Amino acid sequence: MSFNIDEIRAQFPVLDQQIFGKPLSFLDSAASAQRPVAVLDAIDYYYRNDHANVHRGVHQLSQRATIAYEAGREAVRDFLGAPSTKEIVFTRGTTEAINLVAYAWGVPNLKAGDEILLSGMEHHSNIVPWQFVAAQTGAKIRVIPMDDRGVLDMEAYAELLNERTKLVGVVHVSNALGTINPVKQMTQMAHKVGAVVLIDGAQAVPHCAVDVLDMDCDFYMFSGHKVYAPTGIGALYGKKALLEAMPPWQGGGEMIRSVTFESTVVAPPPTRFEAGTPNIAGGVGLAAALGWIQALGMDAVAAHEQQLLDYGTQLLGNFDRIRLIGTAPEKAGVLSFVIDGIHPHDVGTVLDMEGVAVRTGHHCAQPVMERFGIPATTRASLGVYNNRADLDRLAMGLTRVMELLG
Ligand code: PMP
Repeated sequence: MSFNIDEIRAQFPVLDQQIFGKPLSFLDSAASAQRPVAVLDAIDYYYRNDHANVHRGVHQLSQRATIAYEAGREAVRDFLGAPSTKEIVFTRGTTEAINLVAYAWGVPNLKAGDEILLSGMEHHSNIVPWQFVAAQTGAKIRVIPMDDRGVLDMEAYAELLNERTKLVGVVHVSNALGTINPVKQMTQMAHKVGAVVLIDGAQAVPHCAVDVLDMDCDFYMFSGHKVYAPTGIGALYGKKALLEAMPPWQGGGEMIRSVTFESTVVAPPPTRFEAGTPNIAGGVGLAAALGWIQALGMDAVAAHEQQLLDYGTQLLGNFDRIRLIGTAPEKAGVLSFVIDGIHPHDVGTVLDMEGVAVRTGHHCAQPVMERFGIPATTRASLGVYNNRADLDRLAMGLTRVMELLG
């Protein structure tokens, strides 16, 4: 498949609609992306032909459903460059994957005096679970600061790392700022002090190729819905030795080898961490989405988004009253900004009336807002289907915002 933006857009039925009589410009993919026909069809086919519960059935439908679902696991393995499907745990998404690591790795391995080192630009989902774990274990959370561009201070990071650092948790790409963090280098540095490294890949996987082996991180997670797959499905990659040493965090069907009322023998990973009937159609849709985007080519996807990001940055630069929040040299497709004197929610409402869908608020990254001394931003975020016209319409909408509210 070649990278033809008109052909790509045509594969997303939802984009073909009018909002208040204006064509839709969907600039909210960082919150959740849209689904191509390939994904919609895969789920539809699955429900029309193959649905049954997975893993335990001897009948044909159960076997087909199992094959289709497990193909999702193989698709994730391939997408992340992981050595084995035994290292891929299906979860509801990034949030659940981080909670899994926090409870199944963090609680048994952390104690008073240990340090959990997080970056100052983490999503709440990579802060709050660690606060719960810190409260339970007595471990302490420390924070890597960033500069005014939204670039992590690597000298401060080097100084914060010490023999008490047991876990380093870093977002690969910041949802609020767009910053692409040097996760490979950060992993190497953390490993020198013996820390385990968790990388939140929620915003990275839709924008660039990921290779967990090359990165050498210990845990990596993402959500399907940000990479053109359904909601309610995501994955955790964990190194085999770590997963094998971790206890289950939820009990129930599927995750056991044998059960009596006296005791239970748990299954090996990844099954150990997958209690209950899974999101089978989600796995099917995820396989379709990952196959679809890989066929486009992650390098072509990244190049397209980079061009659009440069164009959008230039357009916003024409407005004196707009301040971009997040100006790191290494950035993915996020344009977060504030307009002097106008509240982001008002900006979002006027843009909506112009057919331009953006997100406004703190983007579940309140510490980032605090760092920049603002309550919220307006965020336009890019997906594979966006084009220059979407950004032109954003700029026109912003002119309208200033006319109406300025
Ligand atoms: N981390 C980052 C960087 C995110 O952008 C998000 C979603 N906004 C999450 C974690 C949480 O993802 P989910 O809600 O799909 O679990």
